[in-house]
Amino acid sequence: MKNLFDIQDKVIAVTGAAGVLAGGTANYLQEQGAFVVYLDLFQDKVDATVEEAKKISDKCCGFACNVLDQAALDEVCAKVLETCGRIDVLINGAGGNMPGATIGPDQDVFDLKIEDYSKVLDLNLKGSVLPTMTFARAFKEQGFGCVVNFSSMSSPQALTRVLGYSNAKAAIDNFTRWMAAEMALKYGDKIRVNAIAPGFFISNQNRALLTNEDGSYTERGQQVINKTPFRRFGEQEEVFGTIHYLISDAASFVSGIVVPVDGAFSAFSGV
Ligand code: NAD
Repeated sequence: MKNLFDIQDKVIAVTGAAGVLAGGTANYLQEQGAFVVYLDLFQDKVDATVEEAKKISDKCCGFACNVLDQAALDEVCAKVLETCGRIDVLINGAGGNMPGATIGPDQDVFDLKIEDYSKVLDLNLKGSVLPTMTFARAFKEQGFGCVVNFSSMSSPQALTRVLGYSNAKAAIDNFTRWMAAEMALKYGDKIRVNAIAPGFFISNQNRALLTNEDGSYTERGQQVINKTPFRRFGEQEEVFGTIHYLISDAASFVSGIVVPVDGAFSAFSGV
């Protein structure tokens, strides 16, 4: 009987692949037999990531690629097609926040730095739209392909202080639905676009915001836990299965959805 979750030999490009969630996912998918293309901003980070990934198997390669640089994206996409002959999946993992696009604990809305706000919008939104458009051209030529975007729990409800990032992630939800519909209507049911919306996971960017050096929760970290019925942060590997499902044949009739992976954060009113 066919294994609906078989991803052996799928060619999967992952942006932000030197990071915590996308990088961990990329390693997991390689372990499942996929060929993984690791993409991140700086060459040294990519080299170190690929060196580690080679310990899993030699089914991997990596390129330095700024997700906001159209020429670099075109070049990488062409190299992947040249090397692998096709591209099955794009995972848009590059993303992040910066202090000026949020409001500090002692600030109010008027302290927002609009330049930083724009940078965060660009990285998270345009940094998913541009790679998607680039690889979707290849999907159109091949007649198949699949995208997974990274949304966030900052999208569906107001998360205090975090404006630029929340706006960008809300737009990613909308982009996911829009792109899914456009691609299917024009190019058929073998091109799918979905997103995952992680709740709170400890990453390089939020570690200091959510935890103290001794591992205890900060005030903000405790607020998150209070709103999370599972009463803990997510573990990196808890996003792997949802992404595996979304890119596999098990999800062949699934497109345009945003899947929460959040310990029931989004289900709970807090009361
Ligand atoms: P991370 O900071 O560990 O990794 C992000 C990676 O993106 C880094 O390796 C960074 O070098 C790379 N990057 C940044 N700018 C880039 C650019 N211009 N071009 C190419 N690469 C670039 O973050 P993470 O926690 O692994 O997050 C992965 C995704 O999940 C992000 O989109 C993030 O917004 C989202 N997310 C994270 C959480 C969480 O709690 N960690 C929750 C919800 C959503």
